[in-house]
Amino acid sequence: MIPFNKPPVTGVEEQYIKQALESNKLSGDGPFGKQCQEWFEANLPAKKTLLTPSCTAALELAAILIDIQPGDEVIMPSYTFVSTSNAFVLRGAKIVFVDIRPDTMNIDENLIEAAISPNTRAIVPVHYAGVACEMDTIMDIAGLHNLYVVEDAAQAMMSSYKGRALGTVGHLGAFSFHETKNYTSGGEGGLLIINDERFVERAEVIREKGTNRSQFFRGMVDKYQWVDIGSSYLPSELQAAYLWAQLEHATEINESRLNAWQYYWQHLQPLAEEGRIELSTIPDSCLHNAHMFYLKTAELDERTALLQHLKSRDILAVFHYVPLHSAKAGAAFGRFHGEDCFTTSESERLVRLPMWFGIDEVIQKEVVDAIYEFYVLIS
Ligand SMILES: *Cc1c(COP(=O)(O)O)cnc(C)c1O
Repeated sequence: MIPFNKPPVTGVEEQYIKQALESNKLSGDGPFGKQCQEWFEANLPAKKTLLTPSCTAALELAAILIDIQPGDEVIMPSYTFVSTSNAFVLRGAKIVFVDIRPDTMNIDENLIEAAISPNTRAIVPVHYAGVACEMDTIMDIAGLHNLYVVEDAAQAMMSSYKGRALGTVGHLGAFSFHETKNYTSGGEGGLLIINDERFVERAEVIREKGTNRSQFFRGMVDKYQWVDIGSSYLPSELQAAYLWAQLEHATEINESRLNAWQYYWQHLQPLAEEGRIELSTIPDSCLHNAHMFYLKTAELDERTALLQHLKSRDILAVFHYVPLHSAKAGAAFGRFHGEDCFTTSESERLVRLPMWFGIDEVIQKEVVDAIYEFYVLIS
């Protein structure tokens, strides 16, 4: 069976994890944790970054930081993962879903302003497939209406918008290092990116269970105590050691994925030109990270049949998000503003192909051949 995903492995993970084990320092913010954060701060670059146990945790931390209160409204696409919403719902926010653009599957920046009410506090753009949302427009709207922008850049490490790393454009950003993402910290992990100086000190406190322990370790206070609300948002040193093994090879991983992405694109382009399938669009403003390769079928039944056909050829291709507004919790905690022109219909057409760091062309050719075979069969 050709799997849909394989977690990235560079080969030095075991060595670094062993090193962490031998250091007798397994809790968070050890040498590997600090090294990872410094790497991000230098390379993104960002004012401050904090490793978290997941992107979910980073988004929760962001929601606390921007002080979301019950009754506040947060604007986001419905075509996203549950954590984008949950983080704000946990603070009592009402989610206002806005339609997506069919070309990138990202929030339609031109529909955001009409969804703003006196209760709106934040916009959460999701960079689907590591392809940037139209951030200039989004930041302009946020500035005009005094709103925060929290980028859900879970899929977007190594992607950029007009030369700026995704996650560093809004006030706050979040990466995921789940094993299905381009870089992992051993299965689960995340990063909070802080681009607004005002949030740095409080973020450290919230992440350390509401204590000023970080300041204590830096010798800034003589004892640490409970100073604010907070939770446990530190990953262990073992996770950081795994992540460091990936960051050292960040460019190699990125280039390998881009090559694999290019292979699919080139070989499926003829089928797209015949009008049988649609391929994704990468706007000129964006350099992407090949997080995902997807195609779109004509409609839902054709997608079901294609996935079934690939399965019969031992290939695991998958669909993606069921729009949140159509889910039970989505209806309870949010509402869709305006018309759902593309969110549901486009999500029903989308097929993600097998993709991982190091996937070889023999496997990719099998996938491509099986897709062509399907379209010959149904014509
Ligand atoms: C993967 C993902 C998340 C959640 O990431 P975790 O690290 O698993 O918490 C959130 N948002 C989006 C868009 C994602 O793709």
